[in-house]
Amino acid sequence: MMDNNTSVQKYDILSYSYDEVESLAVSLGEKAYRGAQVYSWITKGVWTDKMSNIPLSFRKKLDEVCEFRLPKVKKKLVSKNDGTVKYLFELIDGECIESVFMRYEHGNTLCISSQAGCRMGCKFCASTILGKSRDLMPSEMLGQIIAAQNDTGERISNVVMMGIGEPLDNYDNTVKFLHLVSSEKGLNIGLRHISLSSCGLVNGIDKLANEGLPITLSISLHAYDNEVRSSIMPINKKYPIEKLLVACDEYFQKTGRRISFEYTLISGKNDSRENAVSLAALLKKYIHGTCHVNLIPLNEVKETGLKTSQNVNVFKETLISKGINATVRRRLGSDINASCGQLRRQSKEE
Ligand code: SAH
Repeated sequence: MMDNNTSVQKYDILSYSYDEVESLAVSLGEKAYRGAQVYSWITKGVWTDKMSNIPLSFRKKLDEVCEFRLPKVKKKLVSKNDGTVKYLFELIDGECIESVFMRYEHGNTLCISSQAGCRMGCKFCASTILGKSRDLMPSEMLGQIIAAQNDTGERISNVVMMGIGEPLDNYDNTVKFLHLVSSEKGLNIGLRHISLSSCGLVNGIDKLANEGLPITLSISLHAYDNEVRSSIMPINKKYPIEKLLVACDEYFQKTGRRISFEYTLISGKNDSRENAVSLAALLKKYIHGTCHVNLIPLNEVKETGLKTSQNVNVFKETLISKGINATVRRRLGSDINASCGQLRRQSKEE
């Protein structure tokens, strides 16, 4: 995969699969097993200066024709409450993105970014404010995991694509990343341990349903009708709730994977008992109730003027009483403001 962003085109080697790195080695006049050795190094975050079992001549050749897009830790905040780590990573061109490392009983989870910035324009979100700079390459998504593993010294077993950016707005790179991260020859993180969160790009959901990838799809719903949803999520004007939920139901029918809906509770906007009743009716009508609702108390972003909800438990209990499976997201790293978008903005403004 060549990167078109730089004037001297170099191979973005960390976006390559095992087979592609082997072919690259052969095309550079080496035996295939050299490619296997190189693949093993790069997926550990090691570049040519430390590839001790590779001849110097081949390392020089790799330096000439390839670039190694491993993100660098630019800033790191560690929560005193629960050990959650928030990273600001710098990319090859100076763009910055964020990832969050969280420890759960079922294993370490990394929340990764899929774009530098976002153009979806959700009103409550910190990533929206500066818009999108560019898409991330597969290497830069994979690299966040490799860099966080190296920094913490701990294996990451679960990945959530819930950081900065809209993964389905960077579709091909996201799908390539999903193949890379789950490869047995690479990080070998099972697809069932990966969640992808989308604001609801129906064309992307339709395509994803046919990829045969058993990931968990999370949909950011955040509203019980079109009026409210369009007022906080501009994408709803293009793909209104009914179209979105039909696509979600088809996704479930095709993949057998239950959809998880995210619902951010915003005071006075979408958080009353009546709103919960409407949401339950909506999900029953379109999804037949076979879903999970993940309630997220709004993480306040000063510029938006939106306030967090005090009605979280009532909302949850109302959904459950109507037969909809619902939980409230545990807040990890609240002392370091672990939700995404804020560090990137600070660094851009500096
Ligand atoms: N673009 C994708 C993934 C990134 S956001 C998406 O829209 O799903 C991950 C989740 O965090 C989404 O559900 C998003 O709506 C939510 N979110 C964004 N800003 C938030 C905030 N300030 N408080 C609570 N949740 C927020």
